[in-house]
Amino acid sequence: MIAATACEEQNLYVHRAYYDTSIKSRIEGLRMGKDLRTYLDKLQKVAPDELIRVKREVDIKFEPSQVVAKLESLNRWPTLIFENVKGFDIPIIMNLVASRKQYAIALDTTEKDLNTKFRELERNPQPTKLVKDAPVQEVVWTGKEVDLHKLPIPYHNEKDGGRYITPGIMVSKKPDIGKYNVGVHRHQLKGKNTLGIHLSTTAHAFRIYTEYEEKDKPMEIAIVLGHHPAFILGSLCFNPYDEDEYEICGAIMNEPLEVVKAKTVDLEVPAFAEIVIEGKILPHIREKEGPFGEYTMYYGPERMNPKIEVSAITMRKDAYYHDLLPGTAEHLLWGGTPRLSQIYETARRACPGVKDVYMPLSGVCRYICYIQIKKLLDGEPKAAIFGALAADPFIKYCVVVDEDVDIFDEKSVLHAIATRLIPEENVFIVKNCHGNPLDPTGRIGYTRATGTLKELDFIVTKIGIDATKPLKGFPEKLRVPGIEKIKLEDYLGH
Ligand code: MN
Repeated sequence: MIAATACEEQNLYVHRAYYDTSIKSRIEGLRMGKDLRTYLDKLQKVAPDELIRVKREVDIKFEPSQVVAKLESLNRWPTLIFENVKGFDIPIIMNLVASRKQYAIALDTTEKDLNTKFRELERNPQPTKLVKDAPVQEVVWTGKEVDLHKLPIPYHNEKDGGRYITPGIMVSKKPDIGKYNVGVHRHQLKGKNTLGIHLSTTAHAFRIYTEYEEKDKPMEIAIVLGHHPAFILGSLCFNPYDEDEYEICGAIMNEPLEVVKAKTVDLEVPAFAEIVIEGKILPHIREKEGPFGEYTMYYGPERMNPKIEVSAITMRKDAYYHDLLPGTAEHLLWGGTPRLSQIYETARRACPGVKDVYMPLSGVCRYICYIQIKKLLDGEPKAAIFGALAADPFIKYCVVVDEDVDIFDEKSVLHAIATRLIPEENVFIVKNCHGNPLDPTGRIGYTRATGTLKELDFIVTKIGIDATKPLKGFPEKLRVPGIEKIKLEDYLGH
């Protein structure tokens, strides 16, 4: 009971309203599962400067986005809770996890060990636990009560086609194998019960929708808003199609994901989420969607995209509305962090000397990949590049460096390129590859995924760069002897 009491106090301090309802039953049942609130409690405790509650009234018309963008321009990414949103009684939370420091807090590790910890967690998928009593269904709107305009869905970048739900994790079932798929997609507010959706060709959901559409069937979906960052990271994992992705969410959460039956669709949804939107993507319907400012930091054009008909909105009595400003570090890291482990595994299979991989913010955490290796054989770095490029269609520039180069420090990587690379020997270009359609350099290719041949701009060029030094005949790197022993304060004072 002691642990429960400490937790109770913590929750009481941060979330009084929550304590009054769901936490009480959770404490009685000694349940201490992970959700958005347990994460906020932890953040408050271990890094109070990283959690800011904004009392001033904000207008969904760009104001929360302005604050996040301004902070980003100052290299600051605290979690923000806008408590007072004009015209709504639902607070908005932004920058939920927007730095590797916050990821480390969320996964109970350090920044340095984040990649290793993530890979370890990912190896242990956990079956879901079905519960009957779910906080996310304290409030249920169905039929005529469904009104997306009652959610504080903000405006983000200037030329977006409208209001967008940006961090919505969309749940669906893979029709052929009956397993869950989860992934983040953008959803444009179209009407009180309609949303537009962009399904990238690189996403499993695109494949799933194609299968439903070929059978002239709607694709049942649920959009999850607000949960523990470990759930979000789990939902973004780059696993093989055959796996159940709720089980991978459980892996990253390091506990079974608790789910409840949805109200209007044949899906189970996370019981401890803040808000769930239920509905279906209609077959054969395409409407204008976009333009939309994306992770590339550019606007993607308006395209003809599928449409969602919403059948229910469920939420906690005191729900938070989770929002994300596209093109910021949060957006980049969301997509970038989970994909590192698949790249690592595949590159390491091709080249056992791979030590770690990283996708820097400068390459929007997707287009540039750094691989650090302990080279045993000349020629081996190229195998690591082949592995990485095969693992992730988003990568365009893949750079391999030696183990004395810090892949988390771009100055160190660029120094290796500047001093160790012989371009005509160790740079190679592969034209006409499958990339992501949001890439501004994407060129037109054809897809037959939707039954008829269709043009889409997803053809990109890939560049492999082996910036490792040759094993024989390379100058030695500078080193001042004894640097590790001296204490600066002995010389400079405090
Ligand atoms: Mn998937």
